[in-house]
Amino acid sequence: MLPCERCKRQAGRPGHLPPHEDLEAARANAAAQDGAPFVYRCRQCGFTMVLRSPSLEVPDYWALEDQASST
Ligand SMILES: [Zn+2]
Repeated sequence: MLPCERCKRQAGRPGHLPPHEDLEAARANAAAQDGAPFVYRCRQCGFTMVLRSPSLEVPDYWALEDQASST
């Protein structure tokens, strides 16, 4: 399973950009975990995309959850 073109384009972009139009908020009310309080799910490809905030110095950015879990 591969992320769709929109998700691929969204990944790595700064967090101030809005989610693409096929992303819908998921787990929006969940407490912040692992620096990813904002979780979206793509209606197109089913991938989960999160807004990550690694630290105060690093601005938040969009990440596909599968990639980001490889630490
Ligand atoms: Zn997608």
